[in-house]
Amino acid sequence: MSEDTIFGKIARGEAPANIVYEDDQCLAFRDMFPAAPMHILIIPRKAIPRLCDASEEDQSLLGHMLLVASKVAEQEGLGDKYRLVINNGEGAGQSVFHLHMHIIGGRSLSWPPG
Ligand code: AMP
Repeated sequence: MSEDTIFGKIARGEAPANIVYEDDQCLAFRDMFPAAPMHILIIPRKAIPRLCDASEEDQSLLGHMLLVASKVAEQEGLGDKYRLVINNGEGAGQSVFHLHMHIIGGRSLSWPPG
């Protein structure tokens, strides 16, 4: 569960990505198979596999990622109409085991999700 992933490579600049935001703690880039007109992923530079692997020491990093999501959504013109998703674990649809938050928007979003 702690092996390197494509997102780890993107975080280290070893794999390409369409980056829309980065700072010392995290980066945001466009999802290569977008599920909506706007689909961006936010990842921490730190390789945390799943949200459930995060610990108390990651508290400010996780809070920072939420604020970055809000900033990126505004930057990308989503206004106040977007959804944040974290798939935790294979059974919930997680396919890349480097923590990431999806920002999805640009179309109407139904609830509950599938
Ligand atoms: P999840 O299913 O929550 O693990 O989400 C993984 C997401 O990463 C999916 O939406 C994929 O389309 C996306 N993805 C996988 N590889 C890449 C990549 N190299 N660059 C951008 N997005 C990717």
